[in-house]
Amino acid sequence: SADKKVALITGGNKGIGLETARQLGKLGITVLIGVRDVAKGEAAVAELKKDGVEARAVKLDVDNSADYAEVAKFIARDYGHLDILVNNAGIMLDGRKGNETTKTSKELLQKTFNTNFFAVVGLTQALLPLLKKSLGGRIVNLSSILGSNTLHATPGSFIYDAKTFAYDASKAALNSFTIHLAHELKDTKIKVNSAHPGWVKTEMGGEGAQLDIETGAKTSVELATLQDSGPNGEFLHLGKPLPW
Ligand code: NDP
Repeated sequence: SADKKVALITGGNKGIGLETARQLGKLGITVLIGVRDVAKGEAAVAELKKDGVEARAVKLDVDNSADYAEVAKFIARDYGHLDILVNNAGIMLDGRKGNETTKTSKELLQKTFNTNFFAVVGLTQALLPLLKKSLGGRIVNLSSILGSNTLHATPGSFIYDAKTFAYDASKAALNSFTIHLAHELKDTKIKVNSAHPGWVKTEMGGEGAQLDIETGAKTSVELATLQDSGPNGEFLHLGKPLPW
């Protein structure tokens, strides 16, 4: 119906994105999952349906900027506005054990920045006119504590010796987008925040991660459903601010 909220979650076919779709759907929000592989997307939609969540998959390879206008057209035609954008799709190419910073190639940096940073900026710009038609748009950028320059620069911090330069720098850049966009939109009804989901048992997080996927999606869901009095331009994990 016309008063149902509409959410788009990128990388919604698995991991934290799929669970975010499930939790938002259970709140009665219309859920669109952006997927680069439509077959994987349809399988995810079927899984959501088993849990009582009605979702639709939309083809959205965030590395393909031609998809942005197609997705915007589709949402404009079928819904006329967008209430929630969860920029969740992300990649970590540095390897589980990481990499020496001096051995990080330009190609690896470019690939990482394409997906984790440039894609988020481009897609968000393309969808902003639809978010402005919402009664209170919410943009959630899936960052990481590894994007915290402050913690990287703090001796004794558990990420001081991190060997994931490409990933970390891409999330720091993403955090910069969150701050700049939040400031530009401060007089609108849109709120923009960065989320650290925690270290989560997904394909990216691995088996040794601390949090189950249900808890890992909580921060995204909280920031996607913020009240009008909620934070804007912050970096949060389960309600607690993190240093930039
Ligand atoms: P997964 O690797 O489990 O899932 C990543 C999702 O992103 C998949 O759906 C994947 O699709 C999609 N994706 C990757 N590239 C593209 C692309 N070019 N176009 C469209 N979709 C794409 O990761 P998580 O669920 O763990 O991570 C989700 C977000 O949370 C990421 O941004 C990550 O950086 C962040 N994060 C995760 C942490 C963790 O511990 N897991 C910790 C901190 C942050 P496909 O299936 O087709 O590959």
